[in-house]
Amino acid sequence: MESYNFGEIRTPIFEETELFARSIGGETDVVSKEMYTFADHSLSHLEWTRNTILVRRSAHDDPIDVKILIQLVDSLVSQAEAATSEGEMPKTPDNARALDRLRALSEATLLVPQTAAMGKEEFELCANQIRAAVGALKFGDLITLRPEATASVVRAYIEHGMQMRPGDQKLYYIGPMFRRERPQKGRYRQFYQIGAEVLGTSDAPAIDAELIEMLTVLLEHCQIEKYTLLINSIGCANCRPKYVELLRAELRKPEIYERLGADSKRRVETNPLRVMDSKLPEEQEIIEKLPKISEHLCDDCKTHYEKLKKELDLRKVPFTESPRLVRGLDYYMRTTFEITSPILGAQNALCGGGRYDGLVELLGGPKGIKGIGFALGEDRFIDAIQEAKKVHPTRTADVFIAWMGESAYPVAVRLARVLRGEKHIVELPPVEMKFRKALERADKAGARCVLIIGDDEIASKQLTVKRLADGQQEKIAEDQLVNYFASKSN
Ligand code: AMP
Repeated sequence: MESYNFGEIRTPIFEETELFARSIGGETDVVSKEMYTFADHSLSHLEWTRNTILVRRSAHDDPIDVKILIQLVDSLVSQAEAATSEGEMPKTPDNARALDRLRALSEATLLVPQTAAMGKEEFELCANQIRAAVGALKFGDLITLRPEATASVVRAYIEHGMQMRPGDQKLYYIGPMFRRERPQKGRYRQFYQIGAEVLGTSDAPAIDAELIEMLTVLLEHCQIEKYTLLINSIGCANCRPKYVELLRAELRKPEIYERLGADSKRRVETNPLRVMDSKLPEEQEIIEKLPKISEHLCDDCKTHYEKLKKELDLRKVPFTESPRLVRGLDYYMRTTFEITSPILGAQNALCGGGRYDGLVELLGGPKGIKGIGFALGEDRFIDAIQEAKKVHPTRTADVFIAWMGESAYPVAVRLARVLRGEKHIVELPPVEMKFRKALERADKAGARCVLIIGDDEIASKQLTVKRLADGQQEKIAEDQLVNYFASKSN
């Protein structure tokens, strides 16, 4: 990524929930079901009182039971008042309203002497109102463990005024993401993504093509050959709404609608584009015949898409057009792409990406800033590398230092540091080993050479280097060691 002039950005592991809700969209599975969200506060005593009230089922005709409920409510109100005045709980109109409500419910309605006479239904109504008001109290702001990083990168871009910097901002990140999932192979609750984003005023197709080229170069560096790059254009605010209406009209036709599953039926109204990425086998034949967005693009989008394909050809990046590759959110536009790999099995999506020209503005940033990015699933990427079995997944040492004898140890420590300073990977055993055992250990560690330092070497000031591949041994003067390893690693 650095060779394509992308710089690393590190964003926080958690952000305000609102950021993800707005940028990813409340309708999506990620936001509606998969985010790890919690209230950011240290008011555990209030939380305890609230939970006790919420789970409590008081009997309407037991005055003591009812009194305990009232005491809990009063105690929650006074705890909340204290926390608010100390600035530990947000002072919001919603919280003030909920507290007023609780005071009123506690004082007026549920006084003990009246309760015995109160009917069960009336009491249940009051108890429900108490639960609703208690549930409405917000002890702290909601924060979420990031389910993806684009929103955070765009937030950072806006917050740090990166549009003032010269040229496009080309940023990459690597790090953990969190989604509530049922863990299985290739799908985890904490997983890792490697991603990149380009933000700036231009949406030239060359930007899209260079980003995609970089991604394919990364895969090829890791010798993953079996993958498919799918591309599509999903139009823009001018042409997409017309296409969506056309699609909706088509899907509403009784002969089609009746054959759709429950999810797709719902999406015909809420988000017909998402019917396109249904995985249900019985819907595939229908989807094949639906109108394709690529045939309904406006002139600008059509030109952009044609240029993208030319740019990919120019860069010798093979691609497959897939009219089914869609994204349901308004700020996504034009280029979308996905990389799948058959060697991954069921979870075959390795990477997804696309243009999101409206996102910066949606999140409160300057007008006219466009963006494109991708996120590659690092866990699946590593699975694919291991499946391809071409790259050794573990690092091996260059030099294993076999030292024997007390006087050899300080020399070993010193030389380990010198060689490490020259960027060699050096393994220095912490305790002395017999020569044979040291050789065995070096072999198992996959070391290329063993540097032998024993009494003879100390006396003669000539070290011994043994190459493990062919067993050849050489004597090297200590002051020649750095040169020796430099020439060997070239
Ligand atoms: P998305 O952000 O959903 O477009 O996902 C981008 C890529 O991240 C996918 O193609 C997967 O490779 C990877 N990914 C998404 N969710 C998970 C998960 N729960 N576990 C492992 N990898 C995931």
